[in-house]
Amino acid sequence: MTATNETVSLLAERINALEESSTLGMTKKARELAAQGHKVISLSVGEPDFKTPKHICDAAKKAIDDGFHGYSPVAGFPDLRQAIANKFKRENNIDWKPENVVVSTGAKHSLANVIQVLVNPGEEVVILAPYWVSYSEMVKLAEGRSVVVEGSFENDFKVTPAQLEEAITGRTRIVMFASPNNPTGSIYNEAELRALGAVIAQHEDVFVLADEIYEHINFTTEGHFSMGSIPELKDRVITVNGMAKGFAMTGWRLGYIGATKWIADGVEKLQGQVTSGTNSIAQKAAVAALNGPMEPTQEMNAAYARRRDLVVGLLRDIPGFKVNVPQGAFYAFPDVSYYFGKTDGTTFISNSDDLALWLLNEVYVATVAGSGFGAPNCLRISTAASDEALVEAIGRIKTAVAKLN
Ligand code: PMP
Ligand code: GLU
Repeated sequence: MTATNETVSLLAERINALEESSTLGMTKKARELAAQGHKVISLSVGEPDFKTPKHICDAAKKAIDDGFHGYSPVAGFPDLRQAIANKFKRENNIDWKPENVVVSTGAKHSLANVIQVLVNPGEEVVILAPYWVSYSEMVKLAEGRSVVVEGSFENDFKVTPAQLEEAITGRTRIVMFASPNNPTGSIYNEAELRALGAVIAQHEDVFVLADEIYEHINFTTEGHFSMGSIPELKDRVITVNGMAKGFAMTGWRLGYIGATKWIADGVEKLQGQVTSGTNSIAQKAAVAALNGPMEPTQEMNAAYARRRDLVVGLLRDIPGFKVNVPQGAFYAFPDVSYYFGKTDGTTFISNSDDLALWLLNEVYVATVAGSGFGAPNCLRISTAASDEALVEAIGRIKTAVAKLN
């Protein structure tokens, strides 16, 4: 049967209610235009443009030769859970045992698992905005309610403790955020996380889902701080991380959580009925990554920092763009609302969705509208691309928006 209006309405309500991922949606459109022969520059999907370091690939090849071809334990191989527990201690100052660790098929899967495990229908998840597009949809799938709290541009897109306090109610189950942040690149430093943590400490039934997937892409001298290392909150913070960003392993699909045991057990139970243990070869590669040298990660971080400077400079040169300085991750997130209400004579730009689509069709540069991230005035531009591609793409954007009146 091909899809018609009638077959679409036969889909379960939970799927009809779900938004398509805007990051992946724009990437799909960019691929389609490229397949038609257009010279598309894709700055939509957030994905390292580096190859996975060689020692990690070698470990994967060895795992195949050594015969790791069967099902793995649902929560992950013991050596990987141990390597993750060691990593939590060494880099995050969090004491988790292997039994507190569950390995999943990407950090996306880890986040979705925890939300399914903790949120009952109608319960609230406070999401610090701007936020990664999938958070609100994962909450919807669990029949929870997102309560979005927005950090202002003036406060580097960060939410204050007073705002957080105001958002928490008797129905709040989780507070979730990413630091370093996708899409803004903002980082909540230790003092800020302690201040937010002090608010959460007052509400003993509230959990924290701390998404630290960009931990290793950090340009500050202060470095990374994990809310899970605050002793009073330890059992209430679920720390999510994964291999995708810091080790350039997006396609390997490996993420993990560290959590108090009953939550880890809940995630293992869910995973045991839905996906089982994640790919065995990727797990062995992850052991090599976590126990191995960090120089490749540091080199990638230095490249992202350099490109951040390049991109911020170029974007600030575009009239009307308001640009913060990302402290980590690999995105720029200019406020482009100056162009809303303008037209090139054919297309009217009423919001960031219109602008992103127009830029793709007009000059073949793929970005992502801020609307899906809870920040409708902004446009996300991935800086995980070569200097030449970034210069060319931002040049095209500058020329295009000059036509809007
Ligand atoms: N969290 C954030 C903030 C992300 O940007 C992403 C996108 N990669 C993920 C989680 C998911 O990562 P993974 O590829 O490991 O599923
Ligand atoms: N996290 C990346 C992004 O934001 C990957 C795409 C996705 O899974 O959303 O672009």
